[in-house]
Amino acid sequence: MLVVGNWKLNTTQAEAVSLAADVARGVSDANSGVGVGICPPYVWLEAVVERTAGSPVRVGAQNVAAQDGGAYTGEVSAAMLAEVGCTYAIVGHSERRALFGDTDEVVAAKVSQALANGLTPIVCVGETLDERKAGRVEDVVTGQLAGSLAGVESLERIVVAYEPVWAIGTGETATPDQAQDVHATIRSWLRDRFGASAAQTPLLYGGSVKPANALELFRQPDVDGGLVGGASLDAESFVAIVHAAADAEG
Ligand code: PEP
Repeated sequence: MLVVGNWKLNTTQAEAVSLAADVARGVSDANSGVGVGICPPYVWLEAVVERTAGSPVRVGAQNVAAQDGGAYTGEVSAAMLAEVGCTYAIVGHSERRALFGDTDEVVAAKVSQALANGLTPIVCVGETLDERKAGRVEDVVTGQLAGSLAGVESLERIVVAYEPVWAIGTGETATPDQAQDVHATIRSWLRDRFGASAAQTPLLYGGSVKPANALELFRQPDVDGGLVGGASLDAESFVAIVHAAADAEG
């Protein structure tokens, strides 16, 4: 099980450090084998890495450059993220895809950069409401997987997050059955493309995960944890979600 918080464009430095400290304290006794990650804004990464050192909490970036260096104003490379102490990089989040032009091709380049620099990419896929209504969930999700993982040779260090766009930040969650259906589709696509190691690939669900719905989602056989937005900004809620992952595992 793996639970990762995506803080998005939130927190002052003081808030980030205090949230990180509260999460580290909250999960240190009870996370029994559950991986925990938090993804603050780039500028707080170093402070958050320092504050969580010695705890089970790993730190990730919310994005990464598709290039390894050069004249790309405003970008931050995978090598820089690794140097500052990141473990994870979220790649292809639906907000990046919808608002910042991250196509599957761009996402694939980011995944390759992350892997080449020792980071674990958390590769996000998911359909919009219109696509779901049109019965295109499988097409969309497997299409995004094929494009985003185009340069990947093995599943080692790959995490996939299924995040239905209609469930992100809306308070609307996929039902455990809906999540399991898509996760099973993802697992079987990964198995066809990469072989039996797909059984070990963490498949996270994201979309309005909260303490009240986490356990039922995490109990699904192909749901291996969560990518948590809004609820990760509150230490108590996020820690409760980590505890739900531990309960689902136990
Ligand atoms: C996300 O943005 O990755 C996410 C899942 O957000 P929320 O939990 O707020 O829906």
